[in-house]
Amino acid sequence: ARYQGGNNYQFYHQRLATTPLERLQLEKALRKAVINNEFSVDYQPKMNLHTGIIDSVEALVRWRHPHKGVLDPDDFIPLAEETGLISAIGEQVLNKACQEAAAWRQRGFGDISISVNLSSHQIRRNDLYDIIYNALQNSQLPAEYLELELTESMLMEDISHAQDFLNQLRSLGVRLALDDFGTGYSSLSYLKRLPIDTLKIDRSFVAEARQGETSPIVEAVMAMSESLRLNVVAEGVETREQLHYLESLGCDYAQGYIISRPLPASEVLTLIRHSNLQ
Ligand code: C2E
Ligand code: CA
Ligand code: CA
Ligand code: CA
Repeated sequence: ARYQGGNNYQFYHQRLATTPLERLQLEKALRKAVINNEFSVDYQPKMNLHTGIIDSVEALVRWRHPHKGVLDPDDFIPLAEETGLISAIGEQVLNKACQEAAAWRQRGFGDISISVNLSSHQIRRNDLYDIIYNALQNSQLPAEYLELELTESMLMEDISHAQDFLNQLRSLGVRLALDDFGTGYSSLSYLKRLPIDTLKIDRSFVAEARQGETSPIVEAVMAMSESLRLNVVAEGVETREQLHYLESLGCDYAQGYIISRPLPASEVLTLIRHSNLQ
């Protein structure tokens, strides 16, 4: 089980906080973690399937819990959403990611774009624009190297608001991606109205394309992206067969264990350097 977004807290309740007291303790620990900066960011490479080069990474938050070790987002993002702490955590992740990407550029690793996940809580606040503006200013990362990942469900509630809001973010020069694409209910006409650059096909559909099987949904998304001129990233690519299948469909990017798991900054840099030299 993994984080399903919205209100699915079952998994976390089972694992980390089975009683109200445990939940309260976890919340307290999470508040402390925000103050003490206990979050780190791992980076998962995305391979450009046209060039074979890794030219972008996705930032994924980790919690270095003082007693429980490193926790995955599934273990604390639901509670962070519920308590609103996700906004502070998300801001820390954004700043770290922009600083890291800017440092890579300064060290001569070339153009590596970075994607950062946004939560619905963050997009409902009116300071998000300023937070992103400041992250870019402070890091000196050129805006075109920052991509923000949002989900369909976050935007569905109010399409005209979403449109204005995304246009505002876009005016900063950042790029926008729709995450977990295919799991919501976006229609073609809906998508056309949103100023997005990229669709990320949810890994459940990529998983359908195993052992020589094809996936009608992956192919439908590819066709849709062609007519709307959007980039497509396939998530959760685990096998060579999937990679070749996606390549044959003209998919732009692959992300998944076949390329690499999410890695700490220094390790991802080594991986990028080695794989791009080949
Ligand atoms: P996501 O945005 O869909 O991120 C991709 C997740 O899929 C990551 O899990 C990644 O480790 C996992 N993954 C990547 N490749 C594969 C693969 O080949 N096979 C399989 N089975 N899984 C793969 P992770 O890091 O546990 O993150 C889970 C979710 O937590 C993310 O899903 C995202 O929704 C959320 N999340 C992570 N970091 C942040 C953050 O900074 N802010 C917010 N708001 N949410 C975050
Ligand atoms: Ca994502
Ligand atoms: Ca995703
Ligand atoms: Ca997904």
